[in-house]
This record gives sequence, structure tokens and C-alpha cells, in this order.
Amino acid sequence: MNASHPNPQGTLFVVAAPSGAGKSTLVNALLEHEPAISLSISHTTRPPRPGEAYGEHYYFVDREAFEQEVADGIFLEHAEVHGNLYGTSRKTVQDLMEQGRDVLLEIDWQGAQQIRAAMPDCVGVFILPPSRVELERRLRGRASDSAEVIERRLRNSREEIAHAHEFDYIIVNDRFEDALDDLQAIVRAVRLRAPLQRGRHEALIEELLAPGV
Ligand code: 5GP
Repeated sequence: MNASHPNPQGTLFVVAAPSGAGKSTLVNALLEHEPAISLSISHTTRPPRPGEAYGEHYYFVDREAFEQEVADGIFLEHAEVHGNLYGTSRKTVQDLMEQGRDVLLEIDWQGAQQIRAAMPDCVGVFILPPSRVELERRLRGRASDSAEVIERRLRNSREEIAHAHEFDYIIVNDRFEDALDDLQAIVRAVRLRAPLQRGRHEALIEELLAPGV
């Protein structure tokens, strides 16, 4: 096996959470520690928040363009979340995985269901806030969102959380460092799975099995 491609087909991580659980901060910290994981940048009809850049946080498009992209079949999954459309580019994910990269999707439960159906080997992680009060505090602390947007996201949080049990792993994001530690532990455990390890260590296993004393 090519040593620069330790995983011939990268692993697809799907991370979901209700708005305000701290998902993006956690994912960004994970990516700093794990440069071998690529974040897939989604397309959305949501307007950019201050500081968000096209192609860095999202590909911001209008509804008409998004609907055309749906019709063109460019999305691996897409869904309407909090009144806006979001979608993951099929080509981006496929290209990265074929290069042996691990890919992380930060998407909602509807998208996660579509990904699970299309790619059953994906690894799903759901992030919970430590309490309802804390979820609300974190959401209200996000000054870039209007009161209306915050209320809507709070209302929708129950629907998102009701799907937590569909994921392979659940992390409670109380102390940030602990949650990051948990997320890194999951990535590490996935990389140690026997089928991947067998591929990486074929020569070692052969050597250990060679006849002799
Ligand atoms: P935000 O507007 O706060 O960036 O994201 C709102 C919600 O949309 C979050 O739950 C986020 O995970 C989800 N989301 C972001 N990108 C995608 C995507 O490509 N597909 C789906 N299904 N959900 C997404």
C-alpha cells in the first residue's frame, strides 16, 4: 500500500448538534490538531454573518442558484435548516476521500440521515450542550444573530436533539477541553479499527506470521 495514503479511502465523519452547542468551535479546534482531516465547505442560501467569507465558511448562493445545483445533482445531501438551504458537494467529498483524506461534514440531522443511507461506513458524532439553560445562554451570546433567528434556533433545537440516538457517538460539550479530548479520542479510535490497521500493517503481520521460532 502507498505509505502516503495510509487509508486508501478516507473516513467520513459527520458531526451534528443543535445550534449553540459549540459544534463549530470544537470542529475548528479538532482540525487544528488533526491536519489530515479536511472540512467540507457547504453551499448555503443563508446570508453571511459578519466575518464570514465565501469559500471559507460557506459558498453563499441565492435560492435560485441553489435550486439549480439541486437539479444538477451536485449535492451528496441537502436540507432546509432554520429556513435556509444547505448542501454538501458530492465532488468535493469524493475527491478528498479518493486521495485518502478523512473528511468532516458539519451538517444537520436530515443531512446526516441522507449521508448514512448513501455511505453507511461514515462515523456520526452528535454534540450536546450540558443543559437547556446553557444552550440558551450560548445562543443568546452570539451577537451576530438577530433575536428572531435566535428564537427560531432555540425552537428547532429539540428537533435536532431528538435525533442524537441515530449517531455512533455522543459528546457533552460542558468543559471545552474535555469535549475536544473526546472528539480526538473518537478520531483516534476510528483510525485504529482493524480493517484499516490490517491494511497499514500488512508487512508487519506477514513478518510476525512467518514460519520459524
Ligand atoms: P449555521 O447557519 O449556524 O452555519 O448552520 C445551521 C445548521 O445548518 C447547522 O446545524 C449546520 O450543521 C447545518 N448545516 C451546515 N451545512 C450544512 C449542509 O451542507 N447540509 C446540511 N444538511 N446541514 C448543514
